[in-house]
Amino acid sequence: MKHVDVLVRGAGIVGQSLALSLARLGLQIGLCRDEPRAGAAPDVRAYALNAASVALLKSLKVWDALPAHAATPVYDMHVQGDAEGSAIDFSAWEQRAGELAWIVDAPVLERELAAAVRFAPHVQVLSAAQADHVKADLVALCEGKASATRAALGVRFERHDYGHSAIAARLVASRPHLGTARQWFRSPDVLALLPFDAPEPQRSWVLVWSLPRERCAELMALDDAAFAAALNEATRGEAGELSLASPRAEWPLGIAQASAWAGPGWVLLGDAAHLVHPLAGQGLNLGLADVAALSRVIAAREPWRPLADPKLLRRYVRERALPTWAMGRITDGLLHLFAQPAPAARELRNRGLGLVNRLTPLKRWLTARALDS
Ligand SMILES: Cc1cc2nc3c(=O)[nH]c(=O)nc-3n(C[C@H](O)[C@H](O)[C@H](O)COP(=O)(O)OP(=O)(O)OC[C@H]3O[C@@H](n4cnc5c(N)ncnc54)[C@H](O)[C@@H]3O)c2cc1C
Repeated sequence: MKHVDVLVRGAGIVGQSLALSLARLGLQIGLCRDEPRAGAAPDVRAYALNAASVALLKSLKVWDALPAHAATPVYDMHVQGDAEGSAIDFSAWEQRAGELAWIVDAPVLERELAAAVRFAPHVQVLSAAQADHVKADLVALCEGKASATRAALGVRFERHDYGHSAIAARLVASRPHLGTARQWFRSPDVLALLPFDAPEPQRSWVLVWSLPRERCAELMALDDAAFAAALNEATRGEAGELSLASPRAEWPLGIAQASAWAGPGWVLLGDAAHLVHPLAGQGLNLGLADVAALSRVIAAREPWRPLADPKLLRRYVRERALPTWAMGRITDGLLHLFAQPAPAARELRNRGLGLVNRLTPLKRWLTARALDS
């Protein structure tokens, strides 16, 4: 039976990043990739990545390989409440940072990671059948939210379903985005426009619109022109006249955390360990932070300590479980706060937005947390 140091199961962005990161430590890695689903529609998403995620991708030599149109910097962010004039603005300049985030094309990032994996000397890509005949000191599960191996290990992943789904699509607008991300809390839906430079440089956006499932189904059933009209009504022309530049895709939304992140010979990372609402754009950032943390813990281990030593894996879990749980609570809390229809709740949340907007130190602190969480 073939032996590797670490078998990474799941070759999404988290799994591929982990394989590259651990290979750089000189470990022999097996990366189990499942068969691509025939006829699967291309992923229309682009991810808001924070500075810590960008730093990891730079260290893996993947960031510089991304074509310019696949990564757009965000300099400002405008978040609109559900009352006239209630808003909060964040800016990179105020934060003395180069940018607040980068919006990165999901399929292009996956493709560049796959290219880097092909050239990585210590990584062997395996089919599921081949992986079953591999012996590994440690198995890292990066299989995403529906991980079958996690379920086979008896780890619970109780998912709270929000009853909402997100519609994602690429858009073009009549006006330039000027590097400003926009978000509308519209009780009960949350609509985000992420500035992007493809297909039209300076005039493209990526839409993430989360809504109650019935409303989502209604919007998905509309033809492109009627959908664009609904979108333009929701954004009130604040981002210019918007039209679709891709098919629409829909994701059901929930929150979950695994009942255990590590056990004898295995460890969980990414969506296999935790699922959060995309309103704060943090799911992948959390997964890449898992990769960075596990790589750090393994790199710093005592030379005699085996890779699956429970003490070693506990160091990783200690570092990651609390911030991940906190991010889940924050997004969940925000969602509930803005879902309340009662006028008093509405008044309170909109006053809160205005107050935070005026409290520059608090705003700076919040932005700093988002930049490197
Ligand atoms: C609409 C939307 C917008 C989002 N926007 C953002 C954002 O702006 N910023 C952000 O940080 N996050 C965002 N996210 C979250 C982000 O998409 C996820 O957190 C991220 O994709 C998780 O990556 P992963 O590699 O852990 O899992 P996945 O992307 O699910 O990858 C898992 C991989 O494992 C494979 N696999 C599964 N089972 C097996 C098996 N048994 N054997 C082998 N392989 C297997 C799968 O095929 C897949 O390739 C968003 C999510 C949604 C739904």
